[in-house]
Amino acid sequence: MSDSENLTISSESLTPKHAPKSEESLKWAGPLRSILHARSGPLTRDLLRQPGQFGLGQTPKEFVPEQVTTMVCGYCSTGCGLKMMLKDNQATSLSPSTDYPVNLGMACPKGWEALTVLDAPDRATVPLLKNDSGKHQETDWHTALTTMVERIRRVQAEYGPDSVAFLSTGQIATEEMALLGAVAKFGLGIRHGDGNTRQCMATAATAYKQSFGFDAPPYTYADFEESDCLVFVGANPCLAHPIMWERVMRNRRNPDIIVLDPRRTETAMNATLHLPVYPKSDLTLLYGIARILIERGWYDADNVEQHTHGFDDYQKFVQAYTLDRVATETGLAIEQIESFAKRIHTQERVSFWWTMGVNQSYQGTRTAQAIINLALMTGNIGRPGTGANSITGQCNAMGSRLFSNTTNLLGGHDFASANDRAKVADILNIDESRIPTDVGLAYNEIIDGVRSGQIKALWVIATNPAHSWIDQNDFKETLGKLDFLVVQDMYNTTETATHADLVLPAAAWGEKEGTFINSERRLGLLKKVRKAPGKALSDFKIFRLVAEYADVGEMFAEWESPAAAFQIIKRLSAGQPCDLTGIKDYQAIDEAGGIQWPYSQSDAARGKPVTERRLFEDGQFHFPDGRARFVFDAPRPLSEPTTETFPLVLLTGRGSASQWHTQTRTSKSAVLRRLYPKHQYIEIHPDDATALGIQPQQTVSVTSARGQLKARAVLTLTVPQGQVFIPMHENTTNQLTQAVFDPYSKQPSYKACAVRVQPIKWN
Ligand code: SF4
Repeated sequence: MSDSENLTISSESLTPKHAPKSEESLKWAGPLRSILHARSGPLTRDLLRQPGQFGLGQTPKEFVPEQVTTMVCGYCSTGCGLKMMLKDNQATSLSPSTDYPVNLGMACPKGWEALTVLDAPDRATVPLLKNDSGKHQETDWHTALTTMVERIRRVQAEYGPDSVAFLSTGQIATEEMALLGAVAKFGLGIRHGDGNTRQCMATAATAYKQSFGFDAPPYTYADFEESDCLVFVGANPCLAHPIMWERVMRNRRNPDIIVLDPRRTETAMNATLHLPVYPKSDLTLLYGIARILIERGWYDADNVEQHTHGFDDYQKFVQAYTLDRVATETGLAIEQIESFAKRIHTQERVSFWWTMGVNQSYQGTRTAQAIINLALMTGNIGRPGTGANSITGQCNAMGSRLFSNTTNLLGGHDFASANDRAKVADILNIDESRIPTDVGLAYNEIIDGVRSGQIKALWVIATNPAHSWIDQNDFKETLGKLDFLVVQDMYNTTETATHADLVLPAAAWGEKEGTFINSERRLGLLKKVRKAPGKALSDFKIFRLVAEYADVGEMFAEWESPAAAFQIIKRLSAGQPCDLTGIKDYQAIDEAGGIQWPYSQSDAARGKPVTERRLFEDGQFHFPDGRARFVFDAPRPLSEPTTETFPLVLLTGRGSASQWHTQTRTSKSAVLRRLYPKHQYIEIHPDDATALGIQPQQTVSVTSARGQLKARAVLTLTVPQGQVFIPMHENTTNQLTQAVFDPYSKQPSYKACAVRVQPIKWN
């Protein structure tokens, strides 16, 4: 194989060997080893090791790479390292980094195709302003920004300062989201701002805060390899986080793999024990397991005694979850439940992992905490191969959770705390009265506000709620009630951008600098390896310009570049559990292969950052008494039970490893398009299909109380009878979903609603 072949992937290499051959193989993506692994030759390895080639830290305002550089991927929270090959300072190809501690030479199809989607013809290249006849017209930046600030000020003057809101994102750099949050809240006086992290990680963040005292995912990816037993709850890493799954495959301890999922997912197929619980009965099962462990003395009394609070109450609470009750309410056999408990007890290192099957639920926070409770009571935390570990979704959801100035004050501080406000005001050198005294409205409350007329102007950044928000029909109608909608995005064709009064063209991943924080709390570096198209500007620059046009630029004078903003973020993190003060600069992150937080000045004084670190090794949690909390509530019934009219439970989720959320990017790659089905499809059990007169590949209508879509029927045993599955990536899926929310995290419950399926003809 030549060196040039090492650096690229061809569409031929993906077909026909890996192409779907049947309905079953629609779910092919997990085992696609041949495209996950880098084929790194000596050329790329040697180039990677050339010192001083990265330039970061030497010229913090502008990074000019030479022939090859490394940076992190900009899709998912795995945070893989990619080697970028450059010609004339423009990245022309990439391959996975072999010595980055996250991915160890692997990348999923999205990562391989990350450059392709930058060249899409529908990139937003100039600002667009809606004219009187409702059409978008090109305009210049001066007009765009003047209009934006004037319209926001006009709305605030007419309807009050709180009539404007913004929706941030987990897709931009930490420096950018921090600047956005600061400019919007402290500069423009926009009190209400949230982010699309509400749709994926709010539940995990809330659960951790209530249980550990801080939003602190405790693990490191090495734990995938060091566990004796991995328990996946509502998670399908084989397909949704394939590189994490590859880390599981590297585990040499012959681990038990236990999967709690109604569907027989790719991960479940690879499990040693699959527990196909009824939708949303996982909470009941987890309480039942706690009962068994307590009843049989299979828990770590010392750990409970020394490091936790509230176990006595929890012990009493779970007594009601008898084996018979749990079996009836989950649909599992008693032997399966006992086997689950026994495996947790007998294995020395047990790690618990969850993602959207837990988070996107009307009782997600308590389910996450039932997982945390199991880890705490069995002493499976703070040791290699253990932990109660939420897997994040977006590339910088973790950055958003701590530094977007939305769900908490910058750096994990509290808007409601006078001390925290004074501290942040001092660090930013701004008037303390500029900082709101509460967190403001959550995403769903902002949307309710638009519906009721309380919110009249909305600024949406790098997210696509007109596709992704729950109960779409209602949402689109709601958007129409706004006086002014600004969308800032790399594409001007997203469902949300087409509704906008003003579209601001933004540079994408690869066209700007900054940092991302991945699932295991690792800061990775984003570099400018491409020129942004047309007049598109980095989000950082746009936020600075908005501040200037709003006459508050002086307040943000110190935020002169992403590198400068990183130094501010470090100061904001000082003394917090997410302390970053020991990280000197971007170059230090680069040289270390990413750095996990916390990394304080005293950590730095002890020496170089180690490659992998986990939290709570000292048993100290982030409450004043240092103890973790047992938090629990009784399970609630399905938010929308099935009826005679809507007899099936609809499950939604990721369709393949080559698709990402609303597909604004992944649909732009011909390679990726070949790797996922062309049409919307629905998976249905063959017996249900027979009863409904549905043939394989027949077009069906799927109807909920809120909407209807058409899909092709895929008959498969991977979904149980009475349930159906539709991937989330088509913009029709959320016409069906029901707008209910977890009461603590306010995260939407995307995963289970009632539908009916009927055969129709394709037209
Ligand atoms: Fe890695 Fe995620 Fe990028 Fe795939 S999308 S290469 S798993 S970071």
